[in-house]
Amino acid sequence: MAEPKHYDYIAIGGGSGGIASARRAKMYGAKCAVIENNRIGGTCVNVGCVPKKVMWNTAEVGDAIAHAQDYGFNVTKHPEFSFRKIKEARDAYIKRLNGIYHTNLGNDNIDEITGTAKFVGPKTIEVNGQKYTADHITIATGGYPTIPKIPGAELGITSDGFFDLTDLPKKTAVVGAGYIAVELAGILNGLGSQVSLFFRYPEFLRTFDEMLRTTLMDEMKSKGVHLVPSTPIRAAKHAADNSIIITSDKGEDFSGYDTVIWAIGRSPHTDIGLDKVGVELTKEGYIKVDEFQNTSTPGIYAIGDVTGHVQLTPVAIAAGRRLTERLFNKKSDYKLSYDNVPSVVFSHPPLGTVGMTEEEAKKKFGADKIKVYSAKFGNMFFSVTEAKEKTAMKLVCLLPEEKVLGLHVIGRGADEMVQGFGVAVKMGATKKDFDECVAIHPTSGEEFVTMR
Ligand code: FAD
Ligand code: NDP
Repeated sequence: MAEPKHYDYIAIGGGSGGIASARRAKMYGAKCAVIENNRIGGTCVNVGCVPKKVMWNTAEVGDAIAHAQDYGFNVTKHPEFSFRKIKEARDAYIKRLNGIYHTNLGNDNIDEITGTAKFVGPKTIEVNGQKYTADHITIATGGYPTIPKIPGAELGITSDGFFDLTDLPKKTAVVGAGYIAVELAGILNGLGSQVSLFFRYPEFLRTFDEMLRTTLMDEMKSKGVHLVPSTPIRAAKHAADNSIIITSDKGEDFSGYDTVIWAIGRSPHTDIGLDKVGVELTKEGYIKVDEFQNTSTPGIYAIGDVTGHVQLTPVAIAAGRRLTERLFNKKSDYKLSYDNVPSVVFSHPPLGTVGMTEEEAKKKFGADKIKVYSAKFGNMFFSVTEAKEKTAMKLVCLLPEEKVLGLHVIGRGADEMVQGFGVAVKMGATKKDFDECVAIHPTSGEEFVTMR
């Protein structure tokens, strides 16, 4: 067997975190490799944020066409739509992105190793029979969609399968209650599929502020999504006509689906020989890390989804860059703060959030220390349209200074609104700071600086 090849830094996983960390390490002269066993770019580029956003944009275009007549355009409300065409365009775009990732790694002289990595000894990895060693190894292996352990689960697909669809499903059941369930249900409904969304509790997005989820539930209902709350699914089977029937825990059948999507969370990729190096897992099965992304084994780190902390692309990237700044640029205290991470759910309408929910703030500080400002209004875009849509906003403030602990918004444009406000919240802005900022008129965002 060939001699082990040695690097200063190896990232296992060529997704958001692995690539970002290796490219930053390379900036400081480290000899680096990225190991990837699938398509370069990882979940976000291939089966996550990017193709999802293309499909969300597609549904948004459809929505704009639906309102076009009310804005004076002589167009049909529901023109012919080719799912296949946008899938092909989306796939071609992703292929271009894969190419750009390969080029960037090549330009940086980072070795791309193709294959599945396993630890076989201290700081030693094997890929396709070749051993690699490194002073520093980061596990950035991400995760995969969880499939429920119920009879007939194989009849359903996951978000990965959604991106393989070549035709728009006619009737879809989405099962789940998080980001992916809500986003895919909204996209499919927007494109014309008949969608039912099944979730286990009376509400979905249970970790989000109550105002966001109740407003979204109302809006989704009014847009035609069939919401089926308090309905855990315990089985799936084929009907005589080959359509799919799903059965609730109470034995109720829901039938006629050509597509069932499981969107019940993601599980971490940890089958990489961790027992050979003593890297510990949390009780939920994620890789256990401290605040500096160190695992329980010196010289081995973990970042991104595989750690179970805030599973977002920019989080994986930020954690990876900070880690390699610490390892290769002497920034010994540099680490990612996981507080006040802004995030958007690309629902219809979208919602954005940063900081604490009202419930969390009241629980932490006491209800008498929290002042909440909220607003709900008809978005101006819908002033001349037949269909109406609400925008809702909330500021959660800590008395007496009224420091803004949480900012939440749902409505048209919310997806582009929260990034800037995220900076203000991160800096510790107060309601007075918000009020000192002159409004931009006419926008929805101005409500955040004029709330009474
Ligand atoms: P990944 O990007 O998953 O990369 C891990 C890589 O490791 C993969 O390419 C995998 O093939 C590889 N790998 C695994 N095991 C091995 C092994 N043993 N050897 C070699 N390679 C291995 N986040 C957002 O911020 N915004 C969004 O809008 C958004 N939308 C999403 C939509 C969907 C449908 C999904 C599923 C996710 C979405 N996310 C979004 C989450 C985001 O994609 C992840 O948080 C992010 O990709 C995590 O990056 P990572 O580097 O930890 O892992
Ligand atoms: P989430 O963790 O967001 O949501 C999954 C939810 O499904 C759980 O919270 C749970 O909610 C419900 N659930 C769990 N098990 C079952 C079950 N057996 N039957 C029915 N429902 C179940 O996972 P997702 O898969 O939606 O997304 C994974 C992560 O990817 C997200 O957390 C997010 O970090 C990231 N992502 C980000 C996006 C963005 O930034 N826009 C978009 C998509 C994904 P409950 O307990 O209420 O039933």
